[in-house]
Amino acid sequence: MPLLVQKYGGTSVGTIKRIEAVADKVIGYKNQGNDMVVVVSAMSGETNRLVSLAQDIDSQAKGRELDVLLTTGEQVTIALLAMAFEKRGYPARSYTGGQVRIVTDSAHNKARIKSIDDENIKRDLDAGRIVVVAGFQGIDEDSNITTLGRGGSDTTGVALAAALKADECQIFTDVDGVYTTDPRVEPDARRLNTITFEEMLEMASLGSKVLQTRAVEFAQKYQVPLRVLSSFESGEGTLITTEYEADDIMEQALISGIAFNRDEAQLTINGVADTPGVAYQILGPISDANIEVDMILQNIGADGTTDFTFTVHRNDFDTALASLQKAAGSLEAREVSGNNKIVKISIVGVGMRSHAGIASRMFEVLAKEGINILMISTSEIKISVVVDEKYLELGVRALHEGFDLKQES
Ligand code: ASP
Ligand code: MG
Repeated sequence: MPLLVQKYGGTSVGTIKRIEAVADKVIGYKNQGNDMVVVVSAMSGETNRLVSLAQDIDSQAKGRELDVLLTTGEQVTIALLAMAFEKRGYPARSYTGGQVRIVTDSAHNKARIKSIDDENIKRDLDAGRIVVVAGFQGIDEDSNITTLGRGGSDTTGVALAAALKADECQIFTDVDGVYTTDPRVEPDARRLNTITFEEMLEMASLGSKVLQTRAVEFAQKYQVPLRVLSSFESGEGTLITTEYEADDIMEQALISGIAFNRDEAQLTINGVADTPGVAYQILGPISDANIEVDMILQNIGADGTTDFTFTVHRNDFDTALASLQKAAGSLEAREVSGNNKIVKISIVGVGMRSHAGIASRMFEVLAKEGINILMISTSEIKISVVVDEKYLELGVRALHEGFDLKQES
């Protein structure tokens, strides 16, 4: 019998009515002859509510007790959903992470799954039950309750699908799939039928938050076919899969999507000595301050000096600028400057591997709109540009059009 692992997010189980709707939906799949394992999040807003309760006691609340608290959110929804199945005449059983024995390391609030005991679940499935599992939680070797980090229910779903060798892991959420770009910026954005794991990871790291990144990495590692679909509308959603599998089914596009990130800031230090160790002297203190650097650009030196530009998250701009100004003295730099009104726009697609000229097409599209490019970086399946924030919408839309991603209507 095919086995499906389905995960329903917080909005999908946000009210009793919605929990009942999830029960009906799952029963539909069960009646089609599938074994069903269902992973749920806490009711929408519940985890945040619990976090703020904890913060009322200790604004820095973290660690073991926070995990004990936060996991109660999912314990509520598994019980309610299992009851809804039972009421409909479908035997069901709910499990917390610890009861399954989803064993994690002991890194509270951001634990990683080490192993999953599939014995209980398999026994229930064999007995014809629907199994409901609490997302986001596990237990360490010493039976301490742990959580997997915010959004961690996606990872629970994928990990269970991998452990149980499910035919597919289906993530039901409030969007009906992965889009070519954010429909709020480009209303003609199109839902993709398929996307590769690699592309999905690039899109996520660039700010398209449909799935927890770790869940995608997990699915890629264990080759779990992963599908994102809407809890509220019917449809095929988007299948995230390997390039090999996607090749057969994919609409052969060069570019799969356009991602962007609004929270960028750029820093520049001019006229530093073009000698070994300078990059380290500039970026060492930045990384010591726990600031993540994204793009880095060093110019070819002239007259023994060079210029250095890099980008950081906008929240880190002030700290990074202060650190750079401090370094400027000992580096005898000519000038330090910064710009926190920039954004990053990226085109992503495995099609880039086999096609030349994609970068120039991108630059041509931007040039036609009069958009000045401040920085460029490329990887195997991605080209990113940094531009002034006022060009974000225009740039995304022009690229969407320029690479023919629009809805066929
Ligand atoms: N309830 C948890 C959160 O809000 C886990 C999840 O929903 O994936 O982060
Ligand atoms: Mg979630």
